Amino acid sequence: MTDVAADLKGAADTIEAMERTVAAATSRLVELGGVDKNQTLAYELAHAASATAVARAALRYASHGELEARLAFAFIADAAAELAAKTTGREALFGVEPHWLDPVRGFVAACLDPAFVGALAETPGPSHLDEDFTLVADTFHRFAAEQVRPHAEHVHRTNGDIPEALISGLAELGGLGLSVPEAYGGFASGGEHDYLGMVVATEELTWGSLGIGGSLITRPEILTRALVNGGTEAQRSRWLPRLASGEELAAVAVTEPDFGSDVAGITTTATRADGGWVINGTKTWCTFAARATVLMLLARTDPDRAAGHRGLSVLLVEKPVGDAHGFRFDQAGEAGRGPGRLEGRPIDTIGYRGMHSYELSFEGWFVPDDCLIGGDEGLGRGFYLQMGGFENGRIQTAARALGVMQAAYDAAVAYARDRRVFGAVLLDYELSRVKLGKMAAVIQCSRQFAYEVARTMATGDGSLQASMAKAYVCRAAEWVTREAMQLHGGMGYAEEYPVSRYFVDARVLSIFEGADETLCLKVIARRLAEQR
Ligand SMILES: Cc1cc2nc3c(=O)[nH]c(=O)nc-3n(C[C@H](O)[C@H](O)[C@H](O)COP(=O)(O)OP(=O)(O)OC[C@H]3O[C@@H](n4cnc5c(N)ncnc54)[C@H](O)[C@@H]3O)c2cc1C
Repeated sequence: MTDVAADLKGAADTIEAMERTVAAATSRLVELGGVDKNQTLAYELAHAASATAVARAALRYASHGELEARLAFAFIADAAAELAAKTTGREALFGVEPHWLDPVRGFVAACLDPAFVGALAETPGPSHLDEDFTLVADTFHRFAAEQVRPHAEHVHRTNGDIPEALISGLAELGGLGLSVPEAYGGFASGGEHDYLGMVVATEELTWGSLGIGGSLITRPEILTRALVNGGTEAQRSRWLPRLASGEELAAVAVTEPDFGSDVAGITTTATRADGGWVINGTKTWCTFAARATVLMLLARTDPDRAAGHRGLSVLLVEKPVGDAHGFRFDQAGEAGRGPGRLEGRPIDTIGYRGMHSYELSFEGWFVPDDCLIGGDEGLGRGFYLQMGGFENGRIQTAARALGVMQAAYDAAVAYARDRRVFGAVLLDYELSRVKLGKMAAVIQCSRQFAYEVARTMATGDGSLQASMAKAYVCRAAEWVTREAMQLHGGMGYAEEYPVSRYFVDARVLSIFEGADETLCLKVIARRLAEQR
């Protein structure tokens, strides 16, 4: 395969065939009665549409040159073959012809050829960021290499805390204020650069570590979006500069023991009291809650439960820094209200260590009036503000997945170069090269899609694409880290090799910030059906 121009045509035809298949499956979903009655089709469709959207971004990347084209072609061919596997035997369910791939079979076969894919093993390709963003990437990469990586293994293996110097170093670098508007002391100028800078920085920090790097900037990001979209001027002026400087660190308290994916059903209440609100209820999985000085809490402010998601509001709950292994704070009672208590119990996890997640119990915990985001106008807008924050969180989580994948790929290439098996270098075996070549293609094409989505989001659009990026890239990270671990053989299973950490870290990405199934069914498939 040398004629890139001819193959660009093959690639374009392949993507069009995939897009037709996705469109047919979407029509079929609608015909059959929609998402809730056809979950399997809806779920498969959501992933197929996401992979196809990545393939489209890959095609644009292909126009940069021959290497870029080869990476893109390997990705597109693989995605088409996966889609064909999904539809095989289920043509009636998907509403497609059995041989829909036939017209582009030649392109797919050539680009799945082991020699073609294997040649990409050590060529991850340039990201094609412009000079400014290359500087952003280099700056955060250096910080990740020098300040994050040296602590990553220790924190992971001891379930330890993120070093304070790392947090303050990140704040000095501006990492906590990437989405805070310049007028409030941050770096967001309101252009296409805001989201892209966040994606680039997040990937690099996460390359350093998911648990102690990239995830530090997701919480201020979510709270910042809510304040920018729905806060009062007084709240923005008070909170945004302090979030940007790291003086205040945030945690997000939405999930409850009985309500995770079904956010609209949460039961934690905030009840009017003299001068403020009294909070009662239990939250769970509140990550970073001990170290945080402010919780972004979604609570039911309308006592009428029939109000559903319209009865929810977001409150800012100030709190002292607590012990990572568990904490309890007490508030003295005052006239008209009793004493309050806030307790945090850590939930130990297999990965993503350092951030620490907690079950939080609020009993009569008081917050003053100005803690309701948006003031009285924010009453009942909590669900909308929270979901707006999560939309940005999704593209950021895709960027976190990119960082984990890149770290795993780097480790796998380095190991395969050194390791000899059966008298030869591991990297020289066809199977190793094909695995690494596919990884390189998946990572670069996912990255290009994430960049595109970030640019689109800056125009006020792209929320469906952000969900697609999250769905696709987070699952891809599981495959990449699995194969990177596998290439390490037994040492892949050893804690002393970072790849074992990448594997367990990657696993959480499809669970939080919208569990994969919920995201696919309730957001991606539903919107595809609506847009048909
Ligand atoms: C490490 C970690 C950190 C987290 N950090 C935070 C945080 O900081 N703040 C916060 O508020 N939350 C946080 N979460 C919570 C996270 O967002 C939830 O775990 C997630 O939303 C899923 O909710 P759940 O655990 O209740 O699962 P459930 O909602 O009980 O879902 C269980 C399974 O059912 C699937 N499912 C759900 N609905 C359907 C359906 N209709 N049809 C078919 N399948 C369905 C889900 O996809 C999932 O696979 C964190 C979670 C983890 C693991």
